[in-house]
Amino acid sequence: MPELDQKNGQPLNADESPNADRRALGPTQPPTHPLATAPVGAPPFSVDGFVKEFIHELNTNQGVALSRSSVNDQYLALASTVKNYLMARWLETGRKTRDAKVKAVGYLSAEYLLGRQLGNALLATDLNDIAKKGLELCGLDLVTLRNQEVEPGLGNGGLGRLAACFIDSLATMDVPCIGYGIRYEYGIFRQTFVDGRQVEQPDTWLALGSPWEFPHPEASVQVNFGGRTETYTDADGTERTRWVPEWNVLGVPYNYMVPGYLNGRVNTLRLWSAQATKAFDLAIFNAGDYAQAVRAQTFAENISKVLYPEDSTPQGKELRLQQQYFFVACSLRDFIENELEDDFDLHDLDQRIIFQLNDTHPVIAVPELMRILMDEKGFSWDEAWEVTSKCFAYTCHTLLPEALEVWSTDLLGRLLPRHLEIIYAINEQFLAEVREAYPGDELRARRMSIIAEFPERGVRMAYLSTYAATKVNGVAALHSQLLRDKVLPDFSELWPDKFTNVTNGVTPRRFVKMANPKLSELINDTIGAGWVTDLERLKELEPFAEDPEFRERFAEAKAWNKRRLTQVLRNRDGIDLPDGHLLDVMVKRLHEYKRQSLKLLHIVSLYEQVLSGKLTVDQVTPRTVVFGAKAAPGYKMAKDTIHLINKVAEVVNADPKLEGRLKVAFPANYNVTLAEKLIPAADLSEQISLAGMEASGTGNMKCALNGALTIGTDDGANVEIRELVGDKHFFLFGMSEPEVADLGAKGYSPGAYYEGNAQLKAAIDLILSGHFSGGDQHLFDSVVYNLLHSDRFMALADFQSYVDAQARVEERYADRDAWTRSAILNVARTGFFSSDRSMRDYIQRIWHTQPML
Ligand SMILES: *Cc1c(COP(=O)(O)O)cnc(C)c1O
Repeated sequence: MPELDQKNGQPLNADESPNADRRALGPTQPPTHPLATAPVGAPPFSVDGFVKEFIHELNTNQGVALSRSSVNDQYLALASTVKNYLMARWLETGRKTRDAKVKAVGYLSAEYLLGRQLGNALLATDLNDIAKKGLELCGLDLVTLRNQEVEPGLGNGGLGRLAACFIDSLATMDVPCIGYGIRYEYGIFRQTFVDGRQVEQPDTWLALGSPWEFPHPEASVQVNFGGRTETYTDADGTERTRWVPEWNVLGVPYNYMVPGYLNGRVNTLRLWSAQATKAFDLAIFNAGDYAQAVRAQTFAENISKVLYPEDSTPQGKELRLQQQYFFVACSLRDFIENELEDDFDLHDLDQRIIFQLNDTHPVIAVPELMRILMDEKGFSWDEAWEVTSKCFAYTCHTLLPEALEVWSTDLLGRLLPRHLEIIYAINEQFLAEVREAYPGDELRARRMSIIAEFPERGVRMAYLSTYAATKVNGVAALHSQLLRDKVLPDFSELWPDKFTNVTNGVTPRRFVKMANPKLSELINDTIGAGWVTDLERLKELEPFAEDPEFRERFAEAKAWNKRRLTQVLRNRDGIDLPDGHLLDVMVKRLHEYKRQSLKLLHIVSLYEQVLSGKLTVDQVTPRTVVFGAKAAPGYKMAKDTIHLINKVAEVVNADPKLEGRLKVAFPANYNVTLAEKLIPAADLSEQISLAGMEASGTGNMKCALNGALTIGTDDGANVEIRELVGDKHFFLFGMSEPEVADLGAKGYSPGAYYEGNAQLKAAIDLILSGHFSGGDQHLFDSVVYNLLHSDRFMALADFQSYVDAQARVEERYADRDAWTRSAILNVARTGFFSSDRSMRDYIQRIWHTQPML
């Protein structure tokens, strides 16, 4: 890379400043669009007005007449129409918030798994009926247009979806929040199956246009990398450090609107896209190397090119660290320069922002804020730390040691030399505090050090986060306890008050109101519409569990959802769902700790018992098991498990001996869009991780809120779900976390369970016989021998208990009325799991922000 002529990491000269143009424009221009002048809170426009606007968008934006327009044109025009409608509210929200000078939440997350935007925007603006009628007048169908949208899959799974639920709740609760993240050009890969094996395709979500974003290249931010640091003496005679970076990129902000539900508030999600800087280009163009200049551009743009598809197992890749620093540097710069008044005193920064770190991915923000305050704003170390130590809070999402990020100091120092220096200095200060608290306990100081020495020198990002954060939270009660006891025991001993719990939640707007219209209608008819923003009111449904008429409507809603799913899977995957089956659903990322293999052993075991005559076919409860799961492309065991599931499905689904009573469906490419169709149809929710391994889970909450009963271990938020719905309405099985720990300590040997359990042995032997692999007895050795000889997540130890719990499931399902009663009580008693409640907990325990109301 060419060395750029830079001082203090500032742009080459003032004219090059990416913000120069925007400042020249002065204050935000008044809105000019006719709809943008509609008063906030005004009723939605008429059907005629809608049609006029829609056709106008189609003609002027898409440049086509209605008669010649494609579905994509129509979808884009509809999206613009809704977007225009939201615009006045968005601008007004921004103005109101800046004027009020209140504290905001800066949610820093490397992932946002948003799902489709159109349906949610129509819901938030109450435009569904008007759009439906207006489109009908044009001879168009709203559902067809909605199905045209490609969801932005800018996240892997639970962590990214959580961020999306949280920003929805904050907007709905009228809390000022800016979500900050990365606009990946390729989100999570599109999964396909070829002969049962996962094949990854690039996710080209931007290909047909992305109507929900507003790029603001004039508000771009420069981000520096590499180089070295040097010390100098400033005009006051103070010794200072500056970073002399080697290369830089531009961060271009893309704004997305985050509409609150029917409240007129529209918050902002600001995602950053990387571009080559002009200076960067020019330096090389001037050297006459055109090809190199183009390569350099590609190099810069690589930073936001693709989402890393690892979930819970980060790889220490340089590009990933570049991504993390890139979006965090853009976001801090943006907040400080653009959201605060010009004369704002940064000593009071904590009064205007709390940055929530969604896992350790954005924690490089801590040394970045220190650097800005010291190197650019002239703060002393103590002044800078005083501010920085009040501006961050940290959410931990795991207990798996391999999921905790550690960056090698080699890599970090090469990419961010100034930040590594600051991290070392933070560590020195931290260890001095530790030594003061525990004089002479050098072992403890080494244990707690932010800098690890083995296997190589590295920065423990979770320790850095914990030290710098005002609060550290786990994501469910059990997880927060284990976080204190097992992951960060020294830290929780030193600062017990720093640790807290906020149990995760999901947004009832997307996952109930939008995804389950029939159930929503029934709830509205029964207790009114207030539950959508006050989910605890679902409790009022409890007495109706005893009302036969209500039960019938509830069951009819479930049946309607199953019919809808049948259509979706037929069109999408060519899968036929049999009628009248118990729908048994396991949808989540493929990970050994989640134990899809345990579910698989149950299926194989049922099948084997029919083959061997231990069960007659009419003893098998008609059941369809639906899997949805992506495996990280480099995670061999997970991919082999997918292959095995698909091969078992092929054989089981084709075997006439089962008389169609057992079916395994594995639609490819599980995503939010599919979740919205699958979850409302589910009867049984599989939440079967080894106890102590799933931090919370949110799929479990979505299923319970849609009237599925859970079969689950005492893990994550399952614990709280079971406490709330009651043991009678939850199928608990498996070892508890302390039992898991005991067994691990004693020495676990899966082979003993195989030898000691005839049913388990028969199932595994059937796989080993080649029955599912056309006679090949070794195709699935990796999966089977891993279970037999290692089984880190103790699937074999929990097998019998799981099978017993499944027998209880079948017994309950045989009494359809009793099942429906339990399902209703699951809905009525799980209002706690609204992400609105999670947000209230964050506000009270961590952020101390106020709604604007
Ligand atoms: C909710 C959700 C998840 C998280 O599911 P868990 O069962 O909690 O792991 C993952 N992916 C998608 C698409 C989701 O909607």
